[in-house]
Amino acid sequence: MTRDQVPTLQEFVEGLEKRNPGQPEFIQAVKEVAETVLEHIRANPKYHKHQILERLAEPDRVISFRVCWHDDEGNVRVNRGYRIQNNNAIGPYKGGIRFHPTVNQGVLKFLAFEQTFKNALTGLPMGGAKGGANLDPKGKSDAEIMRFCQSFMSELYRHLGEDTDIPAGDIGVGGREIGYMFGQYKRITNRYVGVLTGKGMEFGGSPIRIEATGYGAVYFMEDMLKRIGETVEGRTCLVSGSGNVAQHAVEKILALGGKPVTLSDSDGFIYDKSGITTEKLAYIKELKNKRRGRIEDYAKEFGAEYHAGKRPWSVPGELAFPCATQNEITGEDAGVMLKNGVVAVSEGANMPSTLDAVRLFQGARIMFAPGKAANAGGVAVSGLEMSQNSARITWKEAELQRLLRDIMQEIHDRCQRYGGVAGDDKYIDYVKGANIAGFVKVADAMIAQGVV
Ligand code: NDP
Repeated sequence: MTRDQVPTLQEFVEGLEKRNPGQPEFIQAVKEVAETVLEHIRANPKYHKHQILERLAEPDRVISFRVCWHDDEGNVRVNRGYRIQNNNAIGPYKGGIRFHPTVNQGVLKFLAFEQTFKNALTGLPMGGAKGGANLDPKGKSDAEIMRFCQSFMSELYRHLGEDTDIPAGDIGVGGREIGYMFGQYKRITNRYVGVLTGKGMEFGGSPIRIEATGYGAVYFMEDMLKRIGETVEGRTCLVSGSGNVAQHAVEKILALGGKPVTLSDSDGFIYDKSGITTEKLAYIKELKNKRRGRIEDYAKEFGAEYHAGKRPWSVPGELAFPCATQNEITGEDAGVMLKNGVVAVSEGANMPSTLDAVRLFQGARIMFAPGKAANAGGVAVSGLEMSQNSARITWKEAELQRLLRDIMQEIHDRCQRYGGVAGDDKYIDYVKGANIAGFVKVADAMIAQGVV
């Protein structure tokens, strides 16, 4: 291969694997994009000339640091913190912080890479980043979480700024953790600025930021169904996870007349044949957000089925919303889902479907919305929180509800624009559509800004 030739997928992936050993999630995420974007690069040689895909797959900066803290018994504990700043061609770095024992550099590189495309799809000026630590928050007291967040921010603050890098929440990081990190940032910099999003309403948060990711994933489903003249109403819905995204996906499914029947956590899943209602959802919120209990308690409380150590994909249903974590739908799961009547998938989580699962869904021609499009509602409202902080005002909730709905519709339309499939004018390849629409925006900005 000479430099004039666009590499084949295999050549590109071989190089990627050589440069990123031991980072399977990162390889998976980049490969999925390369599969759809290389063809577009071949048709538009300027992207190859400027080595855009190669540059996007090499983060601008990988920051890794030690996080020391004291537990309640006075023991010194040590964790590893990270911030991956992937690309800031279209705006300051933006992306969540994850606290989970599975966090490592490869996982965060995959998330920062995805975030770059997702943020571009929202139409707002935000670059892509992700951060976190290999902390297991389960069983930790409030005081321990506070000390951890303070120690984490004592290093991270020097890499942040309201025009530089603005983190948000993710798995294991909700309102409580954002509050503690914001407090520490303010203390050590003596600046009151919108350097984090997902803040409490009393100190610069935005209406509907908490709800936005889950609501957005259901709106995306609604838009896919609308295109073929259908709706969410009356459909049985499979939801995984029971955290922020899952809770608000269930809330919006109920508002649109759908019937959610499953939820999960890392220990197992519940199947409530009679349907999860608004009252049962209130119990889940109390259980997960306040008592920090396990999903099994739901089954005991309402007499639903509980399946320990399993995920909900064997349950019959029509619409699926994976909202827990990466690679939670394997090829085998996808086969079962198709047999059981699933007709559409909208990913609330990031990369919850393996490449095998995506291929099966697309091969069966069901509607499949990848996370970088379907869960972009959260970061979109984060972008609007940044605007409100800059202007030092808070917009009305109704205005944000309208903006979120419009942005999700625009993301759907952008995917549709690039997601056409030769020889099948009815089918939309949302993976291809999302990847190319995100790529083009970032790539054109990178070309305009020169080789930096
Ligand atoms: P939460 O921490 O609020 O909830 C995560 C849920 O997923 C919990 O029920 C958790 O169970 C479960 N889970 C986490 N890891 C695993 C695992 N390895 N195996 C099985 N279950 C697991 O996080 P969010 O709801 O915020 O995030 C969920 C997904 O959505 C993630 O992929 C995240 O990246 C993505 N996302 C989130 C956004 C946001 O605004 N929050 C924005 C865009 C995407 P347990 O309690 O047992 O750990």
